[in-house]
Amino acid sequence: MPELPEVEAAMAVLRRRAKGRAIVRVQLLHPALQRRVRPAIVRSLAGARIARVERRGKHQLLHLDDGRILHVHFRMNGDWEHGRADAPLPRFARAVIELDDGKRLVLVDSRALGTFDVHAADAALDLGLGPDAADREWTAAQLGAALAARRGPIKPALLDQRLIAGLGNIYAAEALWRARISPFVRASTLDARQVRALRSAIAAVIKRATGSRYTDDDTVSLDVYDREGLVCRRCGTTIERVVQAGRSTYFCPFCQKA
Ligand SMILES: [Zn+2]
Repeated sequence: MPELPEVEAAMAVLRRRAKGRAIVRVQLLHPALQRRVRPAIVRSLAGARIARVERRGKHQLLHLDDGRILHVHFRMNGDWEHGRADAPLPRFARAVIELDDGKRLVLVDSRALGTFDVHAADAALDLGLGPDAADREWTAAQLGAALAARRGPIKPALLDQRLIAGLGNIYAAEALWRARISPFVRASTLDARQVRALRSAIAAVIKRATGSRYTDDDTVSLDVYDREGLVCRRCGTTIERVVQAGRSTYFCPFCQKA
């Protein structure tokens, strides 16, 4: 699932290729997307200029010069493919944004679970997000206060976008491993030292991964996620996997003792 670093990589494509360009035409190719936006709205996007692009958590916002916002979320899968507007469409093309330089951006999404919405110029946009995981202003004290109010274990808490925006199953696992915190410990019981370690671990895993895409290259080598049965890079203990709150949780039973 694309998490903050992968979405940030997609944002770099949008900043480089789409920002400042006018839209020639938008096409929604998949029925699930066609149901989200009325055809008249889709047609009305022609001529609007993409004034700026913004990432909030895992959400991508393309701000148009008329005040409207194109809002894209990759969900489980997805990426932008940039190229000539007259080239054959790639497999799994779900939406197309044709631009005024003869190029286009294609939303490619094999699972077809991604979303594409158009928000009206006067719409209040509340994405229900907590502080962004990449926000340097976000402090360990704020994280600690948020965790103190939680019931339940730390790992599912880190996936809650209202608590912290941008983390998913991969980087939550990586951050906990790095901070030597058990995924099963109750979020509210972390002491100040553990919260500080977790805050800096989140920053480190996000920074390390940003600009790469784990889905199609190996530039990020993960420390614990998807390493069940392999040895911990720190202590040599075998990494384990359990299902926690419906998701796979990978951890080192020695480094991350409960
Ligand atoms: Zn270990």
